[in-house]
Amino acid sequence: MSANPAANTKPPKNQVLNEADWSAPTAPRTALVKRLRDKGIRSEAVLSAMLRVPRERFIDEALWSRAYQDDALPIGHGQTISQPFVVARMIEAILPSGSASTGRFGKILEVGTGCGYQAAVLAQLADEVYSIERIKALYDKARANLRPLRIPNVRLAYGDGYQGLPDAAPFDAIIVAAAAPDLPQALVQQLKRGGKMIIPVGQSEAGAAQQLKLIDKRGMTVIEKQLDLVRFVPMLGGLVK
Ligand code: SAH
Repeated sequence: MSANPAANTKPPKNQVLNEADWSAPTAPRTALVKRLRDKGIRSEAVLSAMLRVPRERFIDEALWSRAYQDDALPIGHGQTISQPFVVARMIEAILPSGSASTGRFGKILEVGTGCGYQAAVLAQLADEVYSIERIKALYDKARANLRPLRIPNVRLAYGDGYQGLPDAAPFDAIIVAAAAPDLPQALVQQLKRGGKMIIPVGQSEAGAAQQLKLIDKRGMTVIEKQLDLVRFVPMLGGLVK
């Protein structure tokens, strides 16, 4: 195996847009998925979704050589594309069970679209993906990133994720890609009974880690489980025009 699986990540410039088969696995993507498996991701459904989505399409060309390293990377506006392992881990935690390998979402809400990468991964696993972003420039960027992939089941919204998307609610699952100081109640309300939400909770000053929380809504009761410590950008209120 190559010591640096990202070495031949860079797609030729003129090949980036509109080729039909963007989801065909490439060597760097296959190597990344192997690493995710080695790090403990068990769901075959999640692994094959990660295998399908070209992460380089969601970052600047200057970062293409790092597209398949398992790291968060800058996407502008002080935000980041999430680390692939964390994307996989969060989706795996809320994937509907019985069998983790056959799980699929009905309608899922993502808070914090950023560049649109995780929305594209979720689209491989869900009937309908709604994703909301508060920074207009990133909402526009995600739209531009997703357009050439022609993914039919993602709807992007420009808005404040603290309010959720009441018109599209209730959701079977909610995944929050930014750290909230505490559990946003509007999101808990917009979760279906039997639905699951995953969210990093805690302060996000420099150096601080947050607790990844899994919320399981069962009728009137909400069960909270603590998962890994993670580092996310903060979930902020209001809009950036
Ligand atoms: N999902 C992205 C990660 C984006 S980083 C990926 O695929 O890699 C988190 C994003 O959450 C940032 O773009 C940030 O602007 C956004 N965000 C923070 N607070 C928000 C809020 N209240 N509503 C919507 N988006 C928010």
